[in-house]
Order: sequence, then C-alpha cells, then structure tokens
Amino acid sequence: MRSQRKTGPSAAPQTRERRTDDTKPERVIRGPTQVGPQVLNPLPYDTSALEPVMSKQTLELHHGKHHKGYVDRLNSLIGGTELENRSLRDIILSTAADAVKTKIFNNAAQAWNHDFFWRCLAPKRDKPPAELGRRVDESFGSFADMERRLGEAAIAVFGSGWAWLVEDGGKLRIVETSNADNPMVLGMNALLTLDVWEHAYYVDYQNRREDYVHAVLSERINWAFAAENLGRASA
Ligand code: MN
Repeated sequence: MRSQRKTGPSAAPQTRERRTDDTKPERVIRGPTQVGPQVLNPLPYDTSALEPVMSKQTLELHHGKHHKGYVDRLNSLIGGTELENRSLRDIILSTAADAVKTKIFNNAAQAWNHDFFWRCLAPKRDKPPAELGRRVDESFGSFADMERRLGEAAIAVFGSGWAWLVEDGGKLRIVETSNADNPMVLGMNALLTLDVWEHAYYVDYQNRREDYVHAVLSERINWAFAAENLGRASA
C-alpha cells in the first residue's frame, strides 16, 4: 500500500477562501481541518446508502483512503508552488501535457474524477430526464443501447481506468480513459463516469468487474446529475 498521508510545505493551516469563479464541477465545501487549497468533499450520501451494490466498507476505503490519498498527495506536491491556489480544473489542464508534472496531473485528475464519480451515483436509480433521453436517442438510438455500450466500455478498459459518457461537439459519445486521464483534457464535457480501478469493486465483487458494472449501471446511476452536466463548458 502506498503512503496515503504525506504532508508537505502546504500543511500550514489555510483560511483563504478558494476561487469561486469555477465552482462546477468542483464544489466549494471546505472542511474545518482542511490544510491545503484542495479539498476532499464529503460524499453526497451516507457510506451505507449504496448497499448492496457498493458496500459501506468499499465507500469508506474508496472515499476515505483512495480519494483522500489523491487530494493529500496533490496538496503535498503543489504546496508552495504557483499551482497551490489554482482551481483543480486549472491544475489538471495546465499539467496534462507536461511530462515533468505527471505526478501532479495524476493526483489532480484522480481527485477530480472521484469527486465527479460520487455525484454520478445515487441510492436509487432515477428516471433519466427527458432532455438527456432525447440527446441519448439522437446519438445512440436508444437509452438501452447507450447503457449497453457504456457497460461494454467499462468492462473493456484494460487495467485501471474510467468509462465515460461525454458530450463532444454537440454529440454524445462513450470514451474510455486509462489511469487518471479524463475527457476534460481532450476538450470533451463529461456527463457521467464509471470507475473501473480494482479498488472500486474488489472488496464487493473480487475480480468480477462485469458484475460490478452491471449492478451500478442498472441500480445506482444518478441520471439527473448526468443531465445537469449537459452543455457545461468543457475546456
Ligand atoms: Mn477510484
């Protein structure tokens, strides 16, 4: 297990408010003990709210250890640098093509991806809003076809990564990314994602990624959140 709790020059108490001109998709919730410019937002539901599809133990580990680890390492890496007080989105976009800043990019993108992922889930699957349904029908033929293709993409990701429903030049598409990569750096607007790193499902499903993907897709997707993301500026 990698160290999850590095501290660095940024570990001094911070009281400055973060920028408010870029509040979506990241939120501006700030915990009282947060020491760096980037925050681990609380889950939008209780850790047992997604059971049995995602167990309380998985959420505690995935949010409380893995996601928190990315945020902590990011703050450690950017403390005292010119990236310290930039928005998470700015950090991701400004480091994506810089080989010297791969560690910063990886931790920043994983921090963003996870914050986004938690909001893609809900205790109960909701009915897709009509506007999203119409856009999906235009691009995929039917909602069921889109869900099938998203599931296939998630299962097909080799190694660690993410499957996404994105808006790309007015059309909706399914894309896969590896490791920390996300569609933002490709100029695409993310509507929904599925985390298919093993840490997302191994406690509950062991190696059965397919079972995890099908359970989440059929029972725990927050389609209202996906619809809210339509038309959001991508890059
Ligand atoms: Mn994850």
